Amino acid sequence: MKMDRRSWLAALGLGAVGAITGREGRAAEPPACPSGGGPLPLESFRPRSMLHVKETKVATPRFPAIDVHTHFTWTASETKGIATGEKIAFNATAKDVLAVLDRKQVRAVVNLTGGTGKGLEATLDAFDRAHPGRFYTCTEPLYGSWLDPRYPQLQADAIERAARAGARGLKVLKALGLGLRERLTEGALVKVDDKRFDLMWEACAAHKLPVYIHVADPEAFFLPIDCTNERYDELGHHPEWSFHGRDFPSFAAIMEARDRVLARHPKTLFVGLHVGHNAENLGFVSESLDRFPNFTVETGARVGELGRQPRTSRKFFEKYQDRIFLGTDAVPPPDGNNYPQQVFKDELYEIYYRFLETEDEYFDYAPPPALVPPQGRWQIYGIGLPDSILKKVYHENAERLLGLSA
Ligand SMILES: [Zn+2]
Repeated sequence: MKMDRRSWLAALGLGAVGAITGREGRAAEPPACPSGGGPLPLESFRPRSMLHVKETKVATPRFPAIDVHTHFTWTASETKGIATGEKIAFNATAKDVLAVLDRKQVRAVVNLTGGTGKGLEATLDAFDRAHPGRFYTCTEPLYGSWLDPRYPQLQADAIERAARAGARGLKVLKALGLGLRERLTEGALVKVDDKRFDLMWEACAAHKLPVYIHVADPEAFFLPIDCTNERYDELGHHPEWSFHGRDFPSFAAIMEARDRVLARHPKTLFVGLHVGHNAENLGFVSESLDRFPNFTVETGARVGELGRQPRTSRKFFEKYQDRIFLGTDAVPPPDGNNYPQQVFKDELYEIYYRFLETEDEYFDYAPPPALVPPQGRWQIYGIGLPDSILKKVYHENAERLLGLSA
């Protein structure tokens, strides 16, 4: 549930907790820095590493990159976090985006949240059609028609229309499983493997649109927000990301429902966003990849997870080198400032490049000016991939996904 977090937060009456990242997307005053010993509030604890280790600046990738996970548009018409209309909001102009992409040698991006109908057309006009070869936009489910008894067919028809208009995939947000309900925003939560979506998954296969799917979230979001939660800071900033309690399904139940979808639609190609929604558990992701040939993954907003388990990650990249895409989950400022690990700027790409290419140790996974690691209080390590794998992860795999020639 993506849109308009600012009004969400305002509704929740949250003020002070946003001090570090700047809830309004503006730089905020850092919390006090007490000295002299004694108790220290968590948000004031901002230790500086005293390690003197190699720091490699990787300004450009060793091979041209394709970023398969970005958000330059959002659907602007929503009902309690469910996209229900065609109105689209632009997070950046193509010109501003291209300036960063050119500096960082990103050849092309996939803009996932391209909307539907007229919104999709507007996105395609502004990005894909204006700059061929640089932008590939995806459509989204037609939840505005969810209450119509003809929904499954209407949805399949919308996929066909979107494909004809030039959409290059379908993006499914975690609203499926955690937001959409029987009566749109009321009643029981609709499950990821609900049969009413079967025609949608099949239409994607028929029109060769990969499905970029995001279900569940980090396991810590399904646990109590207490002193044992490793994402305590992050959940403090984004309490709406907590799926603990109430009527939310468990993390495992969502994964099982996802697996039933993967099994039922073998001709549909799925890109499991955020390292298959389970970057903390690469063993689990490996099993998914082994079990489902129609499953692939990308790295968006999870360099912090991959980089804190560099040896496991390196083996994962070696084994699945043909099925991993580079993705960042980039969101342009000012909204992107609310998610410092995803803010669309030069330094974001440099972190991913450094992680993939170097064996540097103990560095930040979020670009400055994040004062505290925003997803959890740890640092990351590079995995120093060889050229043969870098080439695939940077662009060859994505070229196949998008049907491009090299
Ligand atoms: Zn995303």
